Amino acid sequence: MSRADRAQGAPAFRPPSVDRMASWPALAPLIGRAGRPLVVEALRAWADARRGTPDVADEVACARWCEARLVALVQPSQRRVFNLTGTVLHTNLGRAVLAEEAIQAAVEAMRSPTTLEYDLGGGARGERDDHIAPWLCRLTGAEAATAVNNNAAAVLLVLNALADGREVIVSRGELIEIGGAFRIPDIMARAGCRLVEVGTTNRTHLKDYAAAIGPDTAAIMKVHPSNYAIQGFTKSVPAAELVSLAREKGLALIEDLGSGTLADLETWGLPHEPTAREAVEVGIDVVTFSGDKLLGGPQAGLVVGRKHLIERIARNPMKRALRLDKVRLAALEATLRLYADPGRLAERLPTIRALARPAADIRAQAERLLPGLRKALGSAAEAGVEPVRGQIGSGALPVDLLESFALAVRGRGLDHLADAFRRLPIPVIGRIADDTLFFDLRTLDDEAAFAAQLDKLDVMGR
Ligand SMILES: *Cc1c(COP(=O)(O)O)cnc(C)c1O
Repeated sequence: MSRADRAQGAPAFRPPSVDRMASWPALAPLIGRAGRPLVVEALRAWADARRGTPDVADEVACARWCEARLVALVQPSQRRVFNLTGTVLHTNLGRAVLAEEAIQAAVEAMRSPTTLEYDLGGGARGERDDHIAPWLCRLTGAEAATAVNNNAAAVLLVLNALADGREVIVSRGELIEIGGAFRIPDIMARAGCRLVEVGTTNRTHLKDYAAAIGPDTAAIMKVHPSNYAIQGFTKSVPAAELVSLAREKGLALIEDLGSGTLADLETWGLPHEPTAREAVEVGIDVVTFSGDKLLGGPQAGLVVGRKHLIERIARNPMKRALRLDKVRLAALEATLRLYADPGRLAERLPTIRALARPAADIRAQAERLLPGLRKALGSAAEAGVEPVRGQIGSGALPVDLLESFALAVRGRGLDHLADAFRRLPIPVIGRIADDTLFFDLRTLDDEAAFAAQLDKLDVMGR
């Protein structure tokens, strides 16, 4: 049909039935790839879009339209990206990248039945915590351990199990909010506990805790201020000083370490972050921390401490609702096993490897990638190698910045440039600051894949 015919009011388009269209030969390859239901859905949308327009049913055009629609639809929604934001443990980008050993263990557990709750020795029922508790005890010195969905769940479960309907004392300097609406006062309420705040924002003394203890007090809780630091005229009571007070009054002493770690970060020239072992050795009764922050494992909430308290926590009905599945337990077990050989951690655990990477190494990588990047940008923008400071992320060591190097891109329309990098086959996520688009290379492990896709960068001026 010519343009003139259409303009003269050819009959309005009436689509054939969806079944007819689905049998068009032009659609056969698409049905082969995406399956009939999705193609039928696309055909309906195509017909709707054309209803009432002067048009004819062109099989080939229809197939192309449906294919374009399905390409976007069958693309996985959760996709691999390059995290070059400078934040090693980026919550929005999935936090820790797992060790190869953990990936293997998870894949194995996904593919087959496992001994999740089965004791091969006696052929009887076993406990899922048995796969990770011995490792956690070995690595922290604790008497017992359990694990749940994440650290937020761990805090909720511990509070409910040990202080339901009773009071828990927390310093006002530790009433934190972390991302995703996790606020200590709200968690307390949901756990059925009454929060008793003591001290002030900047100063809390031992005597403040002592004065707040009453007949309804069940526990004292310390919370690691993970995403902020209070500076200046400050005083907080170290957990060690609370131990004798809690013992004397028969209270449980709980500490939420947030990130926590199982290794001494100083080994790799990093600042100190409290280890779970330190907390246990000081005498904290129950310690909670995350699996996918500094620990470098799958999302999980780990709880270690005194045997009788961990037993109470594990028996709480909420534990059943918050428990880990076999896949994450397998990955967690494999990750914990790596900590038994700390000398090789930096080699085997991606989180430690990224944190321990020397700045000179990152700089050399940036220099290697710069010519390819300049070529890809053409006249659209300038690029160079610049020193930057990154961070651990997920609340660990909020004020300590990691010396690093970045590919720095400057030009007009930085937001558009950033968008072009996000539209690459493996999207590249950077950070805009000071009119510059920075790609911090500390976390770039697959250099070849990064370099290989640069020529697909779609920017004006190439
Ligand atoms: C991160 C964090 C949590 C929550 O841990 P998730 O594993 O993300 O649930 C709780 N408390 C503190 C202090 C944290 O830093």
